[in-house]
Amino acid sequence: MGIAYLVTAVVFAALAAVSWVRRADSRTVAISLTFVMIGSCWWSVALALTQLTGSTVAAVATIATFPGPSVMSAAFVVLGLAIMWPQWTPPRTLVLALLIEPVLISVAGLTNPWHELVYSGPGAAEVADPAGWAYGPVFWLDSWFGYTSMAVGFALIGWSWWRAQPVFRPQRLALLGAALIPVLVNGVFLAGGFGDSIDPTLFGFAATGTVMTYLIFRQDRFSFSPVARTLIIDQIGDAIIVVSPTGRVLDLNPAAAELALGLTVRSQADLVGSTVRELFGTSLALDGRHRQVVVDLPGGTRAEFHVRSSPLVDRRSRELGSVLVARNVTEANAQTRRLSEANDQLVRQVETIDRLRADLVQLASRDPLTGLHNRRYLVERFAGMLETARVEGSCVVVTLVDIDRFKSINDEFGHLAGDRVLIAIAQRLREQAPAGALVARWGGEEFFVALPGTGTADGLAFAEELRRRCEQQGVTVEDRTIRCTLSAGVATYPDSGASMNDLFHAADMAMYAAKAAGRNVVRLYEPTEPDEMTQPDEMTQPDD
Ligand code: GH3
Ligand code: MG
Ligand code: MG
Repeated sequence: MGIAYLVTAVVFAALAAVSWVRRADSRTVAISLTFVMIGSCWWSVALALTQLTGSTVAAVATIATFPGPSVMSAAFVVLGLAIMWPQWTPPRTLVLALLIEPVLISVAGLTNPWHELVYSGPGAAEVADPAGWAYGPVFWLDSWFGYTSMAVGFALIGWSWWRAQPVFRPQRLALLGAALIPVLVNGVFLAGGFGDSIDPTLFGFAATGTVMTYLIFRQDRFSFSPVARTLIIDQIGDAIIVVSPTGRVLDLNPAAAELALGLTVRSQADLVGSTVRELFGTSLALDGRHRQVVVDLPGGTRAEFHVRSSPLVDRRSRELGSVLVARNVTEANAQTRRLSEANDQLVRQVETIDRLRADLVQLASRDPLTGLHNRRYLVERFAGMLETARVEGSCVVVTLVDIDRFKSINDEFGHLAGDRVLIAIAQRLREQAPAGALVARWGGEEFFVALPGTGTADGLAFAEELRRRCEQQGVTVEDRTIRCTLSAGVATYPDSGASMNDLFHAADMAMYAAKAAGRNVVRLYEPTEPDEMTQPDEMTQPDD
């Protein structure tokens, strides 16, 4: 039996070493577990010595046993607290308080020969032959301390299981089960199940220690629970939901609980274990890595959530489920939309301004009565047209059209009817002019047409057709046909002149020639004529 205790002592020493080495992961858990193991190891060595050695050494070993179980049970209280709050560090006063009993019982054991309050009976005073010793009141006090401490640690582990988030529950339950082993063994021993002499409780502790060390360090849940849980997950405004591989909610932070309680769930108790769809009315993002979800809130409002899903695996790549992080992006989206609406509005305003500006340019370049281009525009465009013709070496025909005796039309039919005649002639010019032609109101009852890329013959034919149609059809104004005729002067680039002014002058001269010829005719500019030209008004005066 002594050998068995020695083996047990080696097991405890090994477990103490493992716990000490792993103390970086979860400090308080590891260090308190180390002291539980050291206490147990001490206890085992002392028990081995009482079994294996003769009377005096066995007696000394019996007395020297006390610090072992005392330290073990005191450390077990700290272990229970550490399992309960993995991020907790015990205050110095608590550690000192827990050391009081081990120190006292050790001192009581050492001074027993004088007071015999721990052990009494034959040999107790002489420290010999411990087999005959009887237990004194201090021994029972110490036992009471041990059992109470163990019970407290046990209760704390039980409580931590009860309180644990579902992800951690199986581990806490296993710890609780492991802690039960020595209790059962001790119970069976006290009931006489193992005979009188041998107390196998310590073997139960060895089993417990082994299982606990495995559970704490291999399952690796203390290291990821502490800081993450309370400091980050609970504080965060985003809803965080831990989902099992089958889609059931294992855990959720206060933000997620608040959201679920506001949506579908009636009580806090319904939260864990329900499916995500039951809680949030939608499966959220189980099928994708992240997506936007629109949730109907009570009261008719809608909220937009951006949901991210990431797999939750432990250190050994075992799938524990997934974590959903849902962020309410309603306000952010609304802001983005407002910005984009403001932007659209700005774009529309700029478009309107552009259009108005284009309209203004148009208005500035048009004659308000006939809608034809005005003289300003004509001068601008004609310069470009001539430049192109010069570069290309092509021809341009220029025609100046004047309504014959327009003053008498005004006099006879009124100024408004005269306006209508101007509008009708302008419309006819527009219709008859080929594409690319430049048609403008020169001023008064005179019009200007420039035909780029056109030869003299075609230019004359164009003017002649215009004159002929007017002579034949007249102009219809309010169901009345007003007879009117046109005179036209034609000049050509480059034959009649090279510059814009030369060409205007040449066309003017040709027009005067037409008037002089009796009106209702088309005349081509003849370079020899101008000097002999007489002013048309002078010539036509007799007709008026
Ligand atoms: P001619 O055959 O020699 O060209 O005779 P005319 O009467 O057409 O020529 P004149 O230059 O003597 O008269 C032009 C008239 O055109 C004078 C003016 O009152 C009239 N007129 C000029 N602009 C307008 C206008 O915008 N509307 C109207 N109704 N008449 C106009
Ligand atoms: Mg005139
Ligand atoms: Mg006229």
